[in-house]
Amino acid sequence: MELETLREKLAGILLKTEEPLSASELARRLDLDPRRGARIVYEMLPHVSKSIRARYGKQVYFEPPTCRKCGFTFSSFRKPHKCPKCGSEWVDPPRFFVK
Ligand SMILES: [Zn+2]
Repeated sequence: MELETLREKLAGILLKTEEPLSASELARRLDLDPRRGARIVYEMLPHVSKSIRARYGKQVYFEPPTCRKCGFTFSSFRKPHKCPKCGSEWVDPPRFFVK
């Protein structure tokens, strides 16, 4: 699939969804392999959120990743491999939505 088409599809999914979705959930909806696709989704997100803002005047937000062991909340939307506070790898991925 063309990158441009993929970006438009991603924007469409984000604009339509009623619940926040993680990168791998978004990848699945784009018919991408959830693992590899999640990386592609992360790469496309900055561009897609810019075009959603430009075209629809809406903003892409994210629920930050959270450590499920100690509750640490991350400030970046990129899913970290480990919690910097307790070292746990049990981290909830960020979930994206548009408002
Ligand atoms: Zn932790």
